[in-house]
Amino acid sequence: MAADSTTARIETSFWWSCLAMSRDAVDMQDEAWMAKALLLARKAESENEVPVGAIVVKDNEIIGRGWNRNIGLNDPSAHAEIMAMRSAGEALGNYRLPDCTIYVTLEPCTMCAGAMIHARLARLVFGADDPKTGAAGGMFDLLSHPAHNHQLQVSSGVLADACSALLRDFFHQRR
Ligand SMILES: [Zn+2]
Repeated sequence: MAADSTTARIETSFWWSCLAMSRDAVDMQDEAWMAKALLLARKAESENEVPVGAIVVKDNEIIGRGWNRNIGLNDPSAHAEIMAMRSAGEALGNYRLPDCTIYVTLEPCTMCAGAMIHARLARLVFGADDPKTGAAGGMFDLLSHPAHNHQLQVSSGVLADACSALLRDFFHQRR
């Protein structure tokens, strides 16, 4: 009996460590995609736009890329997430983006969160929190509102330090 319970304990701890490993693997994959979004945030910065970048990923492949282009395009809706969703929609030939994940360096605003629900995105992963205009709990809790007919899975804080440092430095230089 004692040997059985020891075996059971060892097996349990083995499965817990497997779960922890798969969790780490997911986190590392999220960080790798966020690093790609950060490159696009830098592209926005090089165009004197607020440095936010976004990508849309489906089946382990980037199908949409976007960065803030409000000033360049004279377009109040040209946030990185909208641009990334537009390019993903073109790539898929579909106005909906099922089974897709969007990675964005900053917590989305209400406009972008609304578009993500319309797009039926499966998952949102963001970097820095936005306590002023964020719609994923930063200022508004729009994404998790139970009245929506679609719910996204949300992960936050991925490469948050790098994402927020880019924004902080950008606004600091402009002061
Ligand atoms: Zn937005």
